[in-house]
Amino acid sequence: MSSAKPWLRHYPSEVAPTYEYPKHNLARILVNTAKKYPDNSALYFMGKTLRYKELLEASYRFANGLKEMGILPGERVAIMLPNCPSAVIAYFGTLMMGGIVVQTSPLYMERELVHQLSDSGAKAIVTLDLLFERVQKAKSKTQIEHIIVTSIKDYLPFPKNWLYPIKMKKDGAKLAVEYGDGVSNFKKLLGESSASPICVEVDAEQDLALLQYTGGTTGISKGVMLTHFNMVANTYQTRNWCYQGQFGEERYLGALPCFHVFGLTVLLNQAMLLAGMLILIPKFDIDLILTTINKLRPTIFPGAPTMYVALINHKRIKDYDISSINVCVSGSAPLPLEVQERFEELTGGRLIEGYGLTEASPVTHANPVLGYRKIGTIGIPFPDTEAKVVNPDSGEEMPIGEIGELIIRGPQVMKGYWNRERETSLTIKEGWLYTGDMARMDDDGFFAIVDRKKDLIIAGGYNIYPREIEEILYEHPAVQEAAVAGIPDQYRGETVKAFVVLKSGMTLTEKELELWCRERLAAYKVPRRIEFRESLPKTMVGKVLRRQLLEEEQKQSS
Ligand code: AMP
Repeated sequence: MSSAKPWLRHYPSEVAPTYEYPKHNLARILVNTAKKYPDNSALYFMGKTLRYKELLEASYRFANGLKEMGILPGERVAIMLPNCPSAVIAYFGTLMMGGIVVQTSPLYMERELVHQLSDSGAKAIVTLDLLFERVQKAKSKTQIEHIIVTSIKDYLPFPKNWLYPIKMKKDGAKLAVEYGDGVSNFKKLLGESSASPICVEVDAEQDLALLQYTGGTTGISKGVMLTHFNMVANTYQTRNWCYQGQFGEERYLGALPCFHVFGLTVLLNQAMLLAGMLILIPKFDIDLILTTINKLRPTIFPGAPTMYVALINHKRIKDYDISSINVCVSGSAPLPLEVQERFEELTGGRLIEGYGLTEASPVTHANPVLGYRKIGTIGIPFPDTEAKVVNPDSGEEMPIGEIGELIIRGPQVMKGYWNRERETSLTIKEGWLYTGDMARMDDDGFFAIVDRKKDLIIAGGYNIYPREIEEILYEHPAVQEAAVAGIPDQYRGETVKAFVVLKSGMTLTEKELELWCRERLAAYKVPRRIEFRESLPKTMVGKVLRRQLLEEEQKQSS
């Protein structure tokens, strides 16, 4: 079997570069930059900027505040906030005092929140007054001792509905936060805490920086243990491979949520490492995004495919100047070819596809920004990252060009799942991370994701990968978005169903779309059922929730 690494030839030299990843506290990224560029703008949020020295001071204050509350190094602090300055301050402050950050989605309802808080054993949570009631209700079922509340008023004025789907109460301003025992105000905490510098030494390869929950869309949500070293290494790998921007010059459009590790590594940590200005966008609102690009001229826009889809299909895209964007890294889901081409045409920049998963901090592959790339692939492994395609049953490496499970080894691979030894041993074997994604590698060392192992449809004995059908659907000029899933079928076990969103003003019948597929796909892959919908359910990073589509389908048929 081949154990060749044909991608090595695409690295700058014959031998893969080994970057010297610093073994320090992840928060040092901010400390170092703030010392060098104290007066540069670090964050931009709703018309206001925070300079590096101000962000550093606020983070020190938060770290000291946590200490005064009795939070110890190694204890968990949950952050349940949309993108806003408090989220960044709480993140760095927690790391600085040696705490472990547990990022929590502000969209979580009580049940999901209770699971995450009790599983992680978080002692404190930082949230927004709009979410306070939900957090307060969850508190008694968890080990939470402190709730730290950021007031929405500190950030006024917001654009209309910016926190959708978090709803304002009818009486707007009267949010029932009772400050007192165990409940403190974020701003007041900063004001009352010491600003003395603090950034504890850590054992970077052992100590955790993050417990990042994943699997929420696919099964029981598990805490991924990411060390300081995992996160620092992946931040440097991404910087060196994808951006190579200018220190102090770049502006990052922060549309990806920072409570997902993709947003942390590819956006927040990048901006801090490169002394860039991070424009924080609390909610993906396409009009807000376009106005922001037009006005603030960001140069780097990491995102998920659905974000680029929304942008290129905007009715008045021609009215906006989006030519400032030089580099975009797309990840978290497949990037349709048409989307990539159209986006590059509009911006004149490069939109490159990468790949990763929470368990790898998250990025493992990307197409090179400069130089040779292959559209429709996830590119080649990052420097210092090994990748193989193996037979999922035997673990044997597959010959070049054949489909198997993608496995990864590198400095960014997690330590394991929090308190779940069995799942850890099933996922990491001899240092290799089993991704659960089916892929193939070509003889040039470029990888293509075929699909997730568990999304495979088996219809009448045939293996069908939804992604292949989705690609064909996306090619139709009237289709804006599409998702394909296997639904139960009496005769074939499963059958292919397509969920399709049409571009506005376009019409198309099921028959026409079926014919389109029939001309391009083997008969057994052609969707037997097609449903046109207004939209597709998605996670905050734009991943289509196939499970939700299937649940809705089940309800309808029963
Ligand atoms: P998460 O842990 O939430 O970041 O999800 C990771 C999963 O997203 C991977 O295991 C893949 O299934 C999927 N994914 C990420 N990037 C891509 C990509 N470029 N193409 C296809 N799937 C992707």
